[in-house]
Amino acid sequence: MKMIEIKNLKKYFNDVKAVDDISFNVKEGELFAFLGLNGAGKSTTINIICGSLFKDEGKVFINGLDLDKNIDQIKANIGIVFQNSVLDKNLNAYDNLKTRAIMYGMSVGEFDKKLNELIDLLDLKDLLRKPLNKLSGGQKRRIDIARALIHNPKILILDEPTTGLDPSTRIMVWNVINHLRKTANLTVFLTTHYMEEASEADYVVILDSGKIVANGTPNDLKNKYASDFIKLYFNDDNKGNVEKELKKNNLKYIALKECYEIEVDNVRVARDLIINNPTLFNDFEIIKGKMDNVFLKVTGKDIKEVI
Ligand code: ADP
Repeated sequence: MKMIEIKNLKKYFNDVKAVDDISFNVKEGELFAFLGLNGAGKSTTINIICGSLFKDEGKVFINGLDLDKNIDQIKANIGIVFQNSVLDKNLNAYDNLKTRAIMYGMSVGEFDKKLNELIDLLDLKDLLRKPLNKLSGGQKRRIDIARALIHNPKILILDEPTTGLDPSTRIMVWNVINHLRKTANLTVFLTTHYMEEASEADYVVILDSGKIVANGTPNDLKNKYASDFIKLYFNDDNKGNVEKELKKNNLKYIALKECYEIEVDNVRVARDLIINNPTLFNDFEIIKGKMDNVFLKVTGKDIKEVI
């Protein structure tokens, strides 16, 4: 079942084509990663999905509801965690969550039940009554996530949820996401600059200058766009011989501390090389290309250098 359906979506700001005719679907319960450099059009798309920005053209359906007709119902289906906290600084965490629950028409009983669940999940017990300005960035992020989940949305949109977080909060955020996917079949729409997070997704869309430049499962994308690498280990005794063999076979390589690294188009090329050069491949490993390599290939830019 499609939880998010985007068809030929367009949004221009004068001559800036922020979103330029994109179409994609997100299935129910999926972890979906929406990737792109800054300025690619991710926030514009998210703002349209949430009803906080008007689109120019195209259709958007959320949980089967048409954005043009059912905006209030759609908002009830979505929880969103923005890059910057949207908590009301004049209220403590508890009152922030309570206000949100009232906005969505939750009864006191419903609110208490959900709050207790979130207290356990996000370890909020000691944070709820503290003034917001006394909380660390990681603690505020946990409250932001609770705020996004308080009204039991079917879709959680996370805009770079772990950027700048300490490792333990990052692990907690991922544990919560995984728990809710398993127990509540939550659909998670994620933007991230961390490619190790993107590689955990069920489906990935990469956006560049408002257009989709690649989409598929992480494995599909790695097979299609990323080279694989063979690490061929040497020791002091055989280093010279190994290098001679590599040159003889016209293999392109770079020398690292303990190994030569050979880039190959795919694992089948690696397999054939090994079969055809059994004496060369005594101590080696094959490493599949990573999402970083995919991103670099399709956008021409290394995500680690631009964040
Ligand atoms: P991302 O979230 O991927 O960083 P955005 O959706 O924020 O990208 O931006 C896409 C493009 O649209 C950028 O060129 C940005 O400068 C432009 N843009 C976004 N919002 C506005 C706006 N309100 N007015 C004018 N240009 C905008």
